[in-house]
Amino acid sequence: MKKHNFSAGPAILPQSVKEKASQAAVDYNNSGLSLMEMSHRGKEFVEILNKAEKNVRTLLGVDDNYAVLFLTGGASTQFFMTAMNLANPNDNIAYVDTGAWSSKAIKEAKLFSNVNVIASSKEANYNYIPEIVPPSMTPKYMHLTSNNTIYGTQIKEWPDVTCPFVCDMSSDIFSRPLPLEKFGVIYAGAQKNVGPAGVSLVIIKKELLGKVERQLPTILNYQTHIDKGSSFNTPPVFPIYVTMLTLQWTIDNGGVSAMAKRNSEKSQLLYNEIDSNDLFVGTAQVSSRSNMNATFLLKDESLTDAFLEDCQAAGIVGIKGHRSVGGFRASMYNAMGLDSVQALVDVMNSFSKKHG
Ligand SMILES: *Cc1c(COP(=O)(O)O)cnc(C)c1O
Repeated sequence: MKKHNFSAGPAILPQSVKEKASQAAVDYNNSGLSLMEMSHRGKEFVEILNKAEKNVRTLLGVDDNYAVLFLTGGASTQFFMTAMNLANPNDNIAYVDTGAWSSKAIKEAKLFSNVNVIASSKEANYNYIPEIVPPSMTPKYMHLTSNNTIYGTQIKEWPDVTCPFVCDMSSDIFSRPLPLEKFGVIYAGAQKNVGPAGVSLVIIKKELLGKVERQLPTILNYQTHIDKGSSFNTPPVFPIYVTMLTLQWTIDNGGVSAMAKRNSEKSQLLYNEIDSNDLFVGTAQVSSRSNMNATFLLKDESLTDAFLEDCQAAGIVGIKGHRSVGGFRASMYNAMGLDSVQALVDVMNSFSKKHG
């Protein structure tokens, strides 16, 4: 039976990407070697890395003012690497607190600079994106989390400020077009919308670097990775390959505009069902709803196990909500087709006929 994978991350990958990756795991391009046993300095991997970078640039329109890096340590390492590389201890940096990941970014940035939390929706368990008013001081940068994977909220309009954004896009990068010029840094763990776990993508405006007084450990200095083309040390060869394939799939399927259209169709289908089905209720405020992760509850929690059983019977997996929100979370990343969302909607619909 076809599985409909709604997992939040690691998450769904396109079928054709998985097939190519499995071939490369055994015999890369008829070389007689697995890609996993090939040198990261060899011509094959250098080509893959160049292609991965080129695909990022093509998809988001990234010009030479920005570097595109493939690093390790997850988005969680970027929480501190950004502040460490961009801000001196007495600089003001502005943070918008829209969830658990934002809060972690705030905690880490405080180790290196003067963090001002300028907006938060913590008081409502982060069920909306707060209004972002430009701060009176000009911060060095403003940190945003574009999509809040746990709470199912997403920034729809970029705030109008004069400083660059540093943005955690782990769960919605490549899901829609971006006004790139507003961003100083974009970072994302690959395992939601880009590829497998083990690599993070960082897009960074080069002119922001080299301005801090502190000594940086070599491997935590962005400039090192720019100078060494993401190969200062051994990069995660296989995750970068799968990421390159996923980005190529994204390009071949119409790029980020086509993804945005598809993602909005998918999420509309599900939100319409959540809103019209008497048994369910959405947890995020309507105007903040994410096109990537939809969070919802059964009004009668005692039906939870019965609903999960019906989902399982229909091949729907990864639907259980994050413990801090409860209920259900349907993650509908780029690689998911409308048919999978329809399968979930059908289960919700027949469930309400049985229990309504
Ligand atoms: C998953 C996630 C993270 C954490 O990513 P790691 O790669 O596991 O460190 C950070 N931010 C957001 C928005 C996420 O969804």
